[in-house]
Amino acid sequence: MKYRIASVEAQVEHVKVLRMEPVGEAIPAFRPGQWVFLHLLDAAGNSMDKRPYSIASAPSSRHLEFCIEMLNGRFTGKLDQLPVGSIIGVEGPQGRMYYGGEKKAAFVAGGTGISPIMAMLRHIAETGARGEFVLFYSVRTRDRLLYTAEFERLHKKNPCIKVVVTLTRETPAGWKGECGRIGHEMIARHIGKPAEFDWWMCGPVEMIKNMRECLAGKGVDQKRVRLEAWG
Ligand SMILES: Cc1cc2nc3c(=O)[nH]c(=O)nc-3n(C[C@H](O)[C@H](O)[C@H](O)COP(=O)(O)OP(=O)(O)OC[C@H]3O[C@@H](n4cnc5c(N)ncnc54)[C@H](O)[C@@H]3O)c2cc1C
Repeated sequence: MKYRIASVEAQVEHVKVLRMEPVGEAIPAFRPGQWVFLHLLDAAGNSMDKRPYSIASAPSSRHLEFCIEMLNGRFTGKLDQLPVGSIIGVEGPQGRMYYGGEKKAAFVAGGTGISPIMAMLRHIAETGARGEFVLFYSVRTRDRLLYTAEFERLHKKNPCIKVVVTLTRETPAGWKGECGRIGHEMIARHIGKPAEFDWWMCGPVEMIKNMRECLAGKGVDQKRVRLEAWG
């Protein structure tokens, strides 16, 4: 499927939010949390290279949104150069880490790992789902925070959504959120009985490994933990 890059927003340094609109075709059905392959196309429309990227927009949206760290790697180095209006290939959706209507849901995101979680939270906000939905979002410093303004809107739209932000490398003056890595005590401050929740986690490999151990220590059944790690 061919998509046109409709807008590019530099949210924080080296991270861009790309919105894409379909060229002629409708957006394929997907579940919040799934990912697609983005393809770089040559002048004839043939794929030159592809990488998987999580969809950050809700399934009801009229565009596909991606939140991508421009690493200047083999793919992102070229993607970062594409101007608004460029055509790009989309293949998918794929992935089993999706939200399926659970009523007690906890989400853990690190850095751009917020992408698939945003699709889930936007879906929960838009459908007015009732339950307990808690996001733990970890970034190194305040200037690395993505989607901050939208977190407030999501909570206003659906007060069942609670967002816990933690900074791991600084405590700025006046900061009212959490500090340090997500662990037993931080979870206990925000969730009474973690084992009653389903969990979705996305972020760097080491963070996900630590979180799996942490949740196992809290008595969370591994079958209730869905995860994706990259970076
Ligand atoms: C299921 C899935 C979903 C994903 N979703 C997302 C998403 O939503 N957002 C997102 O940003 N990524 C996502 N990724 C990662 C993405 O697919 C790419 O791996 C990533 O964009 C790097 O591609 P690249 O070709 O530019 O880097 P490559 O050239 O393949 O380099 C590989 C790795 O080397 C390192 N690297 C390369 N160049 C640099 C550099 N200049 N500085 C520092 N490190 C460097 C990076 O760690 C990089 O990941 C996802 C991956 C998977 C498996």
